[in-house]
Amino acid sequence: MKMTFWGTGTSTGIPVVGCSCAVCRSTDPCNHRRRASVLFEDGHRTWLVDAGPDFRVQALDAELKHLDAVLLTHAHADHVLGLDDLRPLSWKQVIPVWADAPTLATIRTAFPYFFTAGDGKTSRPRLEFHPLEAGQSVEVAGLTVLPLAIHHGDASILGFRVGAVAYLTDCNGIPPETKASLEDLDVLVLGALRAVPHPTHFSLDEAVEAARAVGARRTFFTHFSHDVDHRLWAQTLPEGMAPAYDGLSIPVRMEV
Ligand SMILES: [Zn+2]
Ligand SMILES: [Zn+2]
Ligand SMILES: [Zn+2]
Repeated sequence: MKMTFWGTGTSTGIPVVGCSCAVCRSTDPCNHRRRASVLFEDGHRTWLVDAGPDFRVQALDAELKHLDAVLLTHAHADHVLGLDDLRPLSWKQVIPVWADAPTLATIRTAFPYFFTAGDGKTSRPRLEFHPLEAGQSVEVAGLTVLPLAIHHGDASILGFRVGAVAYLTDCNGIPPETKASLEDLDVLVLGALRAVPHPTHFSLDEAVEAARAVGARRTFFTHFSHDVDHRLWAQTLPEGMAPAYDGLSIPVRMEV
């Protein structure tokens, strides 16, 4: 099993439209960041976490041929606006989409045509929605997934533990019950937005602090704004911690 970062950028993506700051103009490919998403794959099956506005180009670049399931962390635009682009893959097989109740409710409002009977004129993805609850482990297309509650400003959204990896993207606090489910991790993936504190995301320092408290063998940070230069920040990080970048692939140990 492996996990590949399809995107490590915040909601704007990097470069930011209209911006000419040093990171947005950078030639370092690690500073080019699509919207946050990861793909788990075992050689036969594929599981996508979040389908943001870059899903189409991410899937084309990865030469994705089929998708066995989608897991959603929450319903912010940068995590769900690619759902419509699941259409071509969903014509081959209906795609199960797993999310918590607030996320499913938002999808119902944002994409009403997903749920109306086909009139033969409107094209819509063939999706099958399944509810997730934090702390209740589920089998998702043969993969055991533990949804975890994390703070994202005033909202409680989901992170996921799969084997010895945990993926906690948009996050500014880890509640104790989730912390208890983060023991013996090979890899923690944690959101870290920028140097300056933010009301709904960990700053860089807060993320490092939270990662220390979790104590995974390795931590990769994700969901960066254009304030973060990959190479400069990487140099300051303690042993075992690094910024992720688009295209980074890491093995996932399933036995824990
Ligand atoms: Zn986000
Ligand atoms: Zn910029
Ligand atoms: Zn968000």
